[in-house]
Amino acid sequence: MTDISFSPAEVQLPSGHFLGGRLVTGAEDIAVISPGNGEVIAGLPEAGENLVDEAVRLAAKVQQESGWSTCAPRDRARVLRRWADLVDQHRVGLARLETICSTRPIAETLAWDIPFLAEGIRFFAEYCDKTGGEVAATSSDLLGMTIHEPYGVTGAIAPWNFPLVMASWKVVPALAAGNGSVLKPSEMTPFSVVRLAELACEAGLPAGLFNVVQGTGPVTGEALCRHPLIGKLSFTGSTRTGIAVMKAAAESGPKPVTLELGGKSPQLVFGDIPSVEDVADRIFRAFTGNAGQVCVTGSRLIVHRSVAGQLTEALIRRCARPRAMAPWSGKAAWSPIISATQADRILKIVSDSQAAGAESLANCARMDNGNGGVFLSPGILSVSDTDCPAWQEEIFGPVLSVRVFDEEDEAFTLAQHPVYGLAAGVHTSNMGRVMRAIRTLKAGTVWVNRYGRSSDFVIPTGGYGGSGIGKDLGRQAFEANLRLKSVLMAAG
Ligand code: NDP
Repeated sequence: MTDISFSPAEVQLPSGHFLGGRLVTGAEDIAVISPGNGEVIAGLPEAGENLVDEAVRLAAKVQQESGWSTCAPRDRARVLRRWADLVDQHRVGLARLETICSTRPIAETLAWDIPFLAEGIRFFAEYCDKTGGEVAATSSDLLGMTIHEPYGVTGAIAPWNFPLVMASWKVVPALAAGNGSVLKPSEMTPFSVVRLAELACEAGLPAGLFNVVQGTGPVTGEALCRHPLIGKLSFTGSTRTGIAVMKAAAESGPKPVTLELGGKSPQLVFGDIPSVEDVADRIFRAFTGNAGQVCVTGSRLIVHRSVAGQLTEALIRRCARPRAMAPWSGKAAWSPIISATQADRILKIVSDSQAAGAESLANCARMDNGNGGVFLSPGILSVSDTDCPAWQEEIFGPVLSVRVFDEEDEAFTLAQHPVYGLAAGVHTSNMGRVMRAIRTLKAGTVWVNRYGRSSDFVIPTGGYGGSGIGKDLGRQAFEANLRLKSVLMAAG
């Protein structure tokens, strides 16, 4: 078997903005630290208001003048498909750039993130020439219709947890719909998206249509949100920042905002599950994938008393399995935590919860990988009070909180969260119960006898309440990048 390990020293980092089809370097304002070894791996320039303005104006000019929005939609689709092919061809380089400063082990970026990215691009390419407006039912002397048009330039602000995939969910549907796009990635994971933008140009995307501006949220992110030429904005991150993004965006005029925000998603396990071990595998993956740094992490287990003991035992056994290894080792299967600050925050929520009465069944603690990486072991807390911080707060780490129930209604009540409504999992073999759960649970997605997304890009994702507005993926994400024009024509 080929060894997929690599050394960070071998990787050339495109440390700059991507503007007009080329890398733009500058003063090294921000230190990029790898969570795999805690070392500074590059300095990154930060885009202030002027550079953000340049990036947006350039995208607007190219969108207007290049013919991207006026060409035959199939021509756009062809460019996007070529882009996806180039992503496949350059998968090793992209995977290394993704792994080097994110929480994604190389085995996962190669097997999952990059193929998923390429397929996502192909998915949106297919919409280019397969949607359109409608002809309205008017009297026969009139012709009424609706047509779709792009906004011009869209803004995209992406988080660090799946840097390439999250960025592509925003930028690709926008481009497919005929827009230009300006992306701000997280300053912790800035490199892979620059390579992605380079590949887009190689595929034939007009230079300057898709620009990447580097920097922190309060400086670069805010400038992008406030820019008057941004016609539509898409953001993934915390609920608190999502609200700030919405406010800042509104200051330069009303515009649609798609927000994919936080979650505290419940997993309900009933006494009629056919196999405790299978469900334990699912629940474990659902709260430990990417070390819990996933918006849809299934972080609250609500389990029927009849299987609670067996299931928690099975989960505790699994908590002893992860091994901390640098993400660039081909054997690494456990993700680091993105930063030491984030690890401290997770451990503080755990200790505050214990102080509030939660009982630790498996200890979430620092793991040593021998070279300074930031790793935490999976933890399980038995919680008796719904006010407990671990039950209320989005931890964004590998921590599961457990509550036991007796009656179905009690489980449904426990599942509701006062703020979040992103996803929920239901594990049962009773179809009647499945139907009741689907209708009762207030969440943007309900998974039944599974937990997590599939490669069915057609299923949109997004939350209720504090978990966001609008959808990523699906036809809905494509359509969100288009505005509707109404036309009414008279014969004479
Ligand atoms: P944030 O929500 O703060 O950041 C997400 C993105 O928004 C980053 O690119 C960030 O830049 C940018 N940003 C921050 N402030 C602003 C602003 N005022 N205007 C515009 N853009 C801004 O998440 P964090 O990275 O700080 O993580 C904190 C918590 O957020 C996590 O613990 C988790 O709970 C949640 N989160 C949820 C995610 C999800 O998938 N739903 C993804 C990531 C985090 P910068 O990196 O410079 O701050």
